[in-house]
Amino acid sequence: MYDVVVVGGGPSGATAALDLVNSGHSVAMLDRDGRIKPCGGAIPPRLMQDFEIGDDQLVAKVKTARMISPTGRHVDIPIENGFVGMVDRKDFDPFLRTRASAAGVTSLTGTFLRIDREDAGTFVVYRDKATGEEARLQTKLVIGADGARSKVGRAEVPGGDKIPYVLAYHEIIRAPAKSAVYDPVRCDVIYDGEISPDFYGWIFPHGDSASVGMGTEVSSVDLKQATAALRQSAGLTDCETLRREGAPIPLRPLDRWDNGKDVILAGDAAGVVAPSSGEGIYYAMVGGRVAATACAATLASGRAKDLRIARALFMKEHKTVFRVLGSMQNAYYRSDDRRERFVSLCHDIDVQRLTFEAYMNKKLVRARPMAHLKIGFKNLAHLTGLVAPTRV
Ligand SMILES: Cc1cc2nc3c(=O)[nH]c(=O)nc-3n(C[C@H](O)[C@H](O)[C@H](O)COP(=O)(O)OP(=O)(O)OC[C@H]3O[C@@H](n4cnc5c(N)ncnc54)[C@H](O)[C@@H]3O)c2cc1C
Repeated sequence: MYDVVVVGGGPSGATAALDLVNSGHSVAMLDRDGRIKPCGGAIPPRLMQDFEIGDDQLVAKVKTARMISPTGRHVDIPIENGFVGMVDRKDFDPFLRTRASAAGVTSLTGTFLRIDREDAGTFVVYRDKATGEEARLQTKLVIGADGARSKVGRAEVPGGDKIPYVLAYHEIIRAPAKSAVYDPVRCDVIYDGEISPDFYGWIFPHGDSASVGMGTEVSSVDLKQATAALRQSAGLTDCETLRREGAPIPLRPLDRWDNGKDVILAGDAAGVVAPSSGEGIYYAMVGGRVAATACAATLASGRAKDLRIARALFMKEHKTVFRVLGSMQNAYYRSDDRRERFVSLCHDIDVQRLTFEAYMNKKLVRARPMAHLKIGFKNLAHLTGLVAPTRV
């Protein structure tokens, strides 16, 4: 009998499992393994600090973010006093799982099938990868950290089957040499309706390789064609393609993450990805951590309602940033004119500082009061079309 069975060994599941075993609980972590999670791999310094991720996990340290507008103008935002880390999920996820196993988590490879509840107790039923047979684990609680379109979420938590998604697709290419168009320490973010009518495209360096991709909620968009167009406009068509892969990115956190009984969701399974950016790794790890806290509280008190602590803790810390990013996406990602204005806004040094502080350290800094006022006015002026986008 385990205290907790964690389904999914990605960033959220591996974090939850590690925290729980470190606080003295018996934990099994089930992952189906065998597929590299499609991901741009960008992580902020705050993640490395909070979750003890060393430099050795990074395949690149990014020093500049280039924002590119529909007309091809760009603004280079220097990343002052630090860098954005790039991880390769091919190595990062196994590292997280191995770290959890080394701390005492029982690591199992197989596919989650269902939860059975009987007089004898609660059982997680899965198909064991080695034997191909059904197997089961008796447990007091279950964490569903099995990613977007979570099977645990869809079966167990109200609304778990109704989370809206952006479909994201990227190609891992062999990185070209540094040139006028490609820089191995720069992330390019492309705001162009031709590439994505409602999200953005990206070129993220990963050392020897790079991730080039885009996302959209619009089902009629051909993701491969859009990515080909992006590669062409960036001069990356001739680079060797190493992998092609896509996956959904959830757009909205669920109103409830638990089933009021014995199951709680974490990370993408709970719909937790930052609006505007699609950043999910940090929030998945925070989700895993708060789910572990809520499980520990529930096991200690015997009260299922303590599972709700997870969402409350998460929202207390991140609700405002999610709200601001959500409004930004609604305001600026809807037409090329708006996207042009958004890139113009990025020229402002105060906008750059505020945005980067929010990304790097997950804090909305109290900048100079006049700076907030100025940004507010500029924002309004651009949204109402009172000013024209800056030409450079
Ligand atoms: C193309 C793309 C680019 C992205 N780029 C970035 C980026 O640059 N930076 C960033 O922060 N975020 C990015 N994201 C988002 C980020 O990848 C996710 O938010 C993050 O991986 C969520 O972590 P998770 O642990 O919740 O889920 P996942 O990483 O999806 O992990 C879920 C785990 O559950 C396992 N699993 C699933 N189903 C089962 C089952 N039935 N049985 C057993 N195991 C199962 C899987 O094997 C997997 O290991 C990107 C997403 C996409 C699609």
